[in-house]
Amino acid sequence: MSGFDCDFLVVGGGSGGVRAARMAAQRGARVVLVEAAALGGTCVNVGCIPKKLYSQAAHFAQDFADAAGFGWDVPPPRFDWERLKRNRAQEIKRLNGVYEHLLRTAGVELLRGWATLCDAHTVQVATTDGARRWRARHILLATGGTPSVPHFTGREHVLTSDSMFDLDPFPRRLVVVGGGYIACEFASIFQGLGAQVTQLYRGEQILRGFDEEVRGFLAVEMRKHGLHLRVRTDVAQVRREADGSLAVALSSGETLAADAVLYATGRVPNVAGLGLGAAGVTLSPHGGIVVDADYRSSAPSVLAVGDVTARIQLTPVALAEAMVVVEQLFGSGERRMDYECIPTAVFTHPNVATVGLTEQQARERHGAVRVFRTDFLPLRNTLGGGTERVLMKLLVDAASDRVVGLHMVGPDAGEIVQGFAVAMKAGATKAVFDATIGIHPTAAEELVTMREPVPGGA
Ligand code: FAD
Ligand code: NDP
Repeated sequence: MSGFDCDFLVVGGGSGGVRAARMAAQRGARVVLVEAAALGGTCVNVGCIPKKLYSQAAHFAQDFADAAGFGWDVPPPRFDWERLKRNRAQEIKRLNGVYEHLLRTAGVELLRGWATLCDAHTVQVATTDGARRWRARHILLATGGTPSVPHFTGREHVLTSDSMFDLDPFPRRLVVVGGGYIACEFASIFQGLGAQVTQLYRGEQILRGFDEEVRGFLAVEMRKHGLHLRVRTDVAQVRREADGSLAVALSSGETLAADAVLYATGRVPNVAGLGLGAAGVTLSPHGGIVVDADYRSSAPSVLAVGDVTARIQLTPVALAEAMVVVEQLFGSGERRMDYECIPTAVFTHPNVATVGLTEQQARERHGAVRVFRTDFLPLRNTLGGGTERVLMKLLVDAASDRVVGLHMVGPDAGEIVQGFAVAMKAGATKAVFDATIGIHPTAAEELVTMREPVPGGA
């Protein structure tokens, strides 16, 4: 190893870092991983996993309400926020242990402390036992991101998603600011758990970047659940009142009373205190580490994956990028990441899931596009009495017949669209969808039984 303490030093034990460290160690590299906080990073501790658990908790409200139509008499349900928090914390602790076990059994040396680059091959690690410098042949930065809150009067009174999981007490009235993934998901979750939620979004419609029809459909369905969704609405300031509540003053002059205010206004890469300058690592205007197609930064021995590159902030993307890095450095060296057709879901009530292009993108890229869509009341709601509808939409390139976009709003949309993402990745045409036999009775079968394009859609 001539002059190096290890082959691969990974900074950050989140989605990307743990995957890269484990896989590199399994390929025989001597690997050190440095993590300053809990193993598993954002996804495990304050992201995907606790969020999904809370989303599932919130869904029970609908299940109890629907049960009567199916013959069940359920006593008025009572929600115990403290129990949910306790059980979630226990499960997350278990997962932290699983991650540690995985790393240790793979042979990764795990350091609990803060890492700072000294140069392009040297990392100083400050642990409770003191600081030590490590020389590494390759360094991977997988330090993730952190919530970003704009500057305004009363900023100190608002919360970010990081503190929502352990909120005490449960907020009776919650104001959520933002219209992206986190704002929409947390608004849905807390509404489902029994809070009165008001979601404020500065733009025309929530979930910018998603298919227009999906955005509008979701907004209607979220409002049906009783959520006060207000678009074209800006916050001027937030004040703490004498009784401890918060007053959210809007630019329109109106004031909303709240017990808690969540700002979900995007995330910024974790680069502060990393010593990037000393290693010659440059940042993009968005504050992310600039990398090439092989994830090398401007200092070639320093690589970066995941949220710290400020591109697509999704766990499976960080994992896939980590795999490419390991393959490049310690494997065959042949893999490249394909960013086309990355499926994604928003765990709102109802869920949204999508893969491929929006209708607008499809038209811009392909010109003539056939649009197939359906919206319907799912079978469960016939007896359950719920009014939530399902939307499904396919976008087909008229010239090649390839399905280039697939969108769904409805229960288990993520579960359903994951499978269809495989078909899309394989280049399935509408003819292949048509030749696929449905599974009856399911909502998903609609995706293979839509025959007539929307008139004027081509
Ligand atoms: P992270 O997982 O954030 O890990 C970075 C780690 O680096 C952290 O543990 C941090 O402590 C450590 N670190 C930082 N600096 C240093 C340093 N100098 N020294 C030592 N350690 C350091 N994605 C999905 O795909 N699906 C979802 O449902 C989903 N839900 C989400 C919900 C929320 C509320 C949030 C916030 C995010 C969600 N995401 C979701 C996004 C997903 O969590 C991130 O994309 C993913 O965790 C990024 O992984 P990463 O490896 O880049 O960074
Ligand atoms: P997003 O970038 O998705 O959304 C940020 C929202 O905040 C947008 O609606 C944006 O408005 C708004 N906003 C930004 N700045 C301001 C401001 N100054 N004042 C008012 N509103 C503002 O970020 P999130 O924080 O929701 O999530 C970060 C990322 O984490 C996501 O993009 C996603 O990649 C990942 N994530 C994934 C999840 C999943 O896979 N299910 C779940 C949660 C997070 P505008 O649209 O006008 O810019």
